[in-house]
Amino acid sequence: MILGLLKEHGKENRVALLPEIVKTFTDMKVEVLVEKGAGENAFTPDGDYEAAGAKIGSRADVFKKSDVLLQIQPPADEDIQKIQKSQVWISAFNPLWDTDLVKTFLKDGVTTFSLDLIPRTTRAQAMDILSSMATVSGYLAVLEAASKLPTFFPMFMTAAGTIRPANVLILGAGVAGLQAIATSRKLGAQVQVFDVRSAVKEEVKSLGGKFVEVEGATEDKAAGGYAVEQTEEYKQKQQQAINDIAAKSNVVICTAQIPGKKAPLLLPAEAVERMKPGSVIIDLAASTGGNCELTKNDETVVNNGVSIIGQSNYPSQMPMDASKMFGKNVLNFMKLMITEEGALNLNFEDDIVKGTCITHSGEIYNERVKSLFE
Ligand code: NAD
Repeated sequence: MILGLLKEHGKENRVALLPEIVKTFTDMKVEVLVEKGAGENAFTPDGDYEAAGAKIGSRADVFKKSDVLLQIQPPADEDIQKIQKSQVWISAFNPLWDTDLVKTFLKDGVTTFSLDLIPRTTRAQAMDILSSMATVSGYLAVLEAASKLPTFFPMFMTAAGTIRPANVLILGAGVAGLQAIATSRKLGAQVQVFDVRSAVKEEVKSLGGKFVEVEGATEDKAAGGYAVEQTEEYKQKQQQAINDIAAKSNVVICTAQIPGKKAPLLLPAEAVERMKPGSVIIDLAASTGGNCELTKNDETVVNNGVSIIGQSNYPSQMPMDASKMFGKNVLNFMKLMITEEGALNLNFEDDIVKGTCITHSGEIYNERVKSLFE
């Protein structure tokens, strides 16, 4: 089979495969066709792909000749019609949120896989792009906050006086939030953390964060470890606690998300009003509405001296390691669908293949996406 690696469009700097992973594919007898310049924003020239055994072609070539088309971002509008019915499209296209794109793929009869819906199971951990990319986001969110803050993160006792450590509030302790705790602690900040899932309390503590408890959270074991929507009473109590802690924090890192839904609003405008000028809010949930009421996706808003940074694609800002991790996840996933002869075998008997498949032959395979259409 021919695996076509497309150059990303828009502001994306990552590339879905780096040459070291291409080499593994070619060793597995897969032909890899790379769009000219695909790796240039990740500091990887075409020659490195050729040395790894790939061929370089134009964008039109890749669309025409590949059996599988691979990129990170969803297809650009002008590319959707270029995908042929016989081809397989693999990217992360957020089908729980962008159901219009799912409808288009269904109508066109294309086979699609969305890597953001790889099941969160132990066997699938090495394929989980949400975790690897959230690791980058949590890390970079803290570095950006530290670089924008007009004060230090660590405590200093110097001849020029004592500097108090920064207070960081982290909303949501999923993969990004846990990485944000670890990075903030390494930089010497004091960290408080909110999450509706009490299961994360021990992890927060072990990383040196203080878990803020609000009694009465709703948890649902059937939700596969994800957060579920909360009662009004709980939301009010939670709000009061968050507002009070945010008012004393120098940095708030927002990471709370509910898959397929608008992000929960956790930091209303009045809470931002109470924060000290110079404070920084980083909102990683910006693309689904943000946890902060004043967040604008991909923009920085300054309100009463508080910077609110709505950044939903930090991995693009660290394109080398983010691409390295992404590519490894893709390889581990695609190994489930490649025969010893290097041919494509869509093995829907495998729960990870079936769960990640969004459309095939005019049908929806992923159960959560399917339920949105019932
Ligand atoms: P996520 O991006 O879906 O959400 C981030 C965090 O926000 C979560 O911890 C969530 O509980 C929290 N949150 C949601 N609503 C909130 C609210 N109103 N107030 C406060 N916090 C709120 O999370 P994620 O990083 O994708 O992880 C989700 C789950 O998947 C976790 O249980 C994680 O352990 C699990 N997971 C499993 C695997 C695996 O086994 N392959 C890999 C990664 C994560």
